[in-house]
Amino acid sequence: MTTQTPSKTARSEALFARARAVTPGGVNSPVRAFKSVGGTPRFIREAHGAYLTDADGERFVDYIGSWGPMILGHNHPAVREAVADALQFGTSFGAPGEREVELAELVTRLTGAGKVRFTSSGTEATMSALRVARGFTDRKLIVKFRGNYHGHADGLLVEAGSGLMTNLDGPLGESAPSSAGVPPEYAALTLVSEYNDPAALDTLMAERGPEVAAVIFEPVVGNAGVLIPTPEFLAALHRVQNGGALLIADEVMTGFRLSLSGATGLLGLRPDLSCWGKIIGGGLPVGAYGGRSDVMDFVSPQGPVYQAGTLSGNPLAMAAGLATLRTLETDPGVYGRLETYTSRLADGLKSLAAETGVPISVNRIGSMLTPFFQDVPHGSVRNYAQAARSDTQAFGAWFRELLSRGIYWAPSQFESIFVSAAHTDAELNATLEAARAAFADLNS
Ligand code: PLP
Repeated sequence: MTTQTPSKTARSEALFARARAVTPGGVNSPVRAFKSVGGTPRFIREAHGAYLTDADGERFVDYIGSWGPMILGHNHPAVREAVADALQFGTSFGAPGEREVELAELVTRLTGAGKVRFTSSGTEATMSALRVARGFTDRKLIVKFRGNYHGHADGLLVEAGSGLMTNLDGPLGESAPSSAGVPPEYAALTLVSEYNDPAALDTLMAERGPEVAAVIFEPVVGNAGVLIPTPEFLAALHRVQNGGALLIADEVMTGFRLSLSGATGLLGLRPDLSCWGKIIGGGLPVGAYGGRSDVMDFVSPQGPVYQAGTLSGNPLAMAAGLATLRTLETDPGVYGRLETYTSRLADGLKSLAAETGVPISVNRIGSMLTPFFQDVPHGSVRNYAQAARSDTQAFGAWFRELLSRGIYWAPSQFESIFVSAAHTDAELNATLEAARAAFADLNS
């Protein structure tokens, strides 16, 4: 009699089938469906430290960290206790509370922003920052960069990165909507330039500058895979301020990740406004935008630009954000440890790929990293067009092999991974061992 080995994905498969019947594509955010890498998306039951456990009881070293928020690792005691404490006093007030003031004080102190307004997602933060910029400047146009993703507001779904990069089949056109349902008339208000191309930005601003309310950018891109800005590009970004356009740093991914003062502090940026999300809510739904007080004073009820939210400043979310940022602030070694782990991971991947003859090009900064599956020098992928040349089939095969060996990498070639403070040598060694086998498998 033969005994059948139970499938390692039986419960996830059953849940995915049920989910597809009641939710588009079976997921509540597209990249979770594994469409670009293939295989069954794992339905997650619980998460602790550096690990995820799925519905079938399989455990994975997690490199997604909920797409960035879990910088301390999952279910960190400080965050859990702060939320449990807040929970005793009610879940939502619809009136201001002390934690909102505390988090706003902390965020303004860490980032140098004059004033901040909390929202419930990064999308709301960028969407609102643009409205304020338009209200403040009385101009209509915005400029964004190819392959940068700023959430899913209509005007920002233009040549956008993240999940949209892998869903698009052909090259993108000028100001083309990245999604059905975005009228071309909206998209026409968004001008698109090439990331890391200072001359293209200068030319665009010379032609259209007086109509431009704001230039919004990812100070380090995570949503086309990791792209690192050149100093020349950062200088060109600052030049747009001379013509009266506001510079908006979208720090939803990089804020509190690349340093306590985000990419802005690390790279010496001087944006007029910034947007935050992810880490600022410690795993609960929070976004924020803020910056120059004279600009933020245009926001209602102080000023004429309307923006609101039933759950904005939610006490549980504020408690999680406060606990996360306070823990980061009181652990001076945390960013150094993240740097060490991730640079060793990068070095390990580079040498394993070289040993096994698989061409990859690694981009890394702090705890963000992408191995682009293409044969160009490490660090040389600088924009969307270069990133898009990657071999997504090879990446998908590598991803599936890692997953089968207990390593949960980001399920798309065009995303960053996120290392957390809970990742230790044990996880690093397990990851490199699995990566060695996955690279070898690609060449067998
Ligand atoms: N901006 C950037 C840079 C992001 O990476 C994201 C999400 O990944 C957003 C904005 C949108 O944030 P949210 O998904 O919270 O709406």
